[in-house]
Amino acid sequence: MGLAACGGEGAGDTGTDTGGGSEGGDAVEGGTIGVAMPTQTSERWIADGNAVLAGLEGAGYDVDLQFANDDIPTQSQQIDQMITQGVDLLIIAAIDGTALTGQLDAAAAANIPVIAYDRLINDSENVDFYVTFDNFEVGVQQATSLLVGLGVLNEDGSEGDAEGPFNVELFAGSPDDNNATFFWDGAMSVLEPYMEDGTLEVPSGQTEFEQAAILRWQQETAQRRMEDLLTSAYSGGTELHGVLSPYDGLSRGIITALQGTGGYPATIEEGLPVVSGQDAEIASVKLIADGTQFATIFKDTRKLADQAVVSAQSFLAGEEPEANDTESYDNGVKIVPSYLLESDIVYEGNITELLVDSGYWTEEQVESGQ
Ligand code: BGC
Repeated sequence: MGLAACGGEGAGDTGTDTGGGSEGGDAVEGGTIGVAMPTQTSERWIADGNAVLAGLEGAGYDVDLQFANDDIPTQSQQIDQMITQGVDLLIIAAIDGTALTGQLDAAAAANIPVIAYDRLINDSENVDFYVTFDNFEVGVQQATSLLVGLGVLNEDGSEGDAEGPFNVELFAGSPDDNNATFFWDGAMSVLEPYMEDGTLEVPSGQTEFEQAAILRWQQETAQRRMEDLLTSAYSGGTELHGVLSPYDGLSRGIITALQGTGGYPATIEEGLPVVSGQDAEIASVKLIADGTQFATIFKDTRKLADQAVVSAQSFLAGEEPEANDTESYDNGVKIVPSYLLESDIVYEGNITELLVDSGYWTEEQVESGQ
């Protein structure tokens, strides 16, 4: 088919011919699918984009894959263009989950099914399906890993020996990303009882989502907030023991601040506070192997991509994709049928089992951090 079967990965890739869509399809499953990813600054989204691209191409579709540099107007334009080109289906990982109502209206008017990928799209009737991980559970796992690092819990979930009190600080994700509140709510469901019984204290007093949130998940913003907290709440010799961090990029910013402004040593064993994470980014996996970051959450993007492909195939065959959750994700207008995947906590001791044996990272990558 003549269509720009771009698979182009650059944000500037306009890759257009016109037409396309199912009209030009030469195979029963054929057609073009628009895939809108948020950014290439975090490796998970590159992996997601590549895995979705490979899965869809393998299933016989042409793919227009675009990344938006975390810029909302860029993403809106990319989706507008996909609709104009006549894609048969859209798979969207939104930057701002409330900013795409216009695009989704246009997609619905053109009978283009929309699958929200990883992040829910809010305030629209026209989100047809949602593939993601169990985001509340991810938050539970983040908080659990923090408590394991402090010794309050053991890895098997049983009570540990340490009683505290421990000083912790809390970070949350981007307030415009629907997942961020799920991670936070999940984490707080675990931490609150320990905050109430005095096992955990938050010396800064910043225990609200709005205070903890880091716009666009920016590493530098997290580093700055951590530096500010260290200066304002810890300069009198108060020791910090742990930090809830919802994403590896933020974790690395936080660790930089701890080792710099905070004057903490290189490793947890030597007294560096315990920091959680998410995404099993290779730089953080190395830090975990080195005893610097305590844990991360592994969300296998290959499985999420597969689920997106399977769901797309169902829609294009005129069927409803299989959901395993029809109550958790209310986007403000409707409950979006969802398929939720499971995630795992990665500690130093199970890096090989979870990440290397599954082929997600190689041993060499874990060693080099790249
Ligand atoms: C994703 C996380 C990711 C974060 C920052 C969230 O929507 O679910 O896996 O860490 O965005 O990119």
